Amino acid sequence: MENKLDGNAAAGILQAIFPFEMTLVQATCAGCGTTNSLGATAAYMHGMGTVVRCPSCDTALIRVAQVKGRYFLDMRGVRVLQISTEA
Ligand SMILES: [Zn+2]
Repeated sequence: MENKLDGNAAAGILQAIFPFEMTLVQATCAGCGTTNSLGATAAYMHGMGTVVRCPSCDTALIRVAQVKGRYFLDMRGVRVLQISTEA
């Protein structure tokens, strides 16, 4: 079972970890090199957590799970994360 969400939902989850406006953070896909803002990606929620996928090639950019009071963040699908320092 998985529910497809838009990237804004995934950004909301990452917002609990990162002190940046996550919908505006841009991620470059390690699979195809496309750069997208997290708000423009696709997110899938599983029982185990959330997977953010590249809208171009479906590579898993970010996996995040919360287990026993810890966040587990797998970002192997992100080549570069661009974070704006302006509000
Ligand atoms: Zn890609």
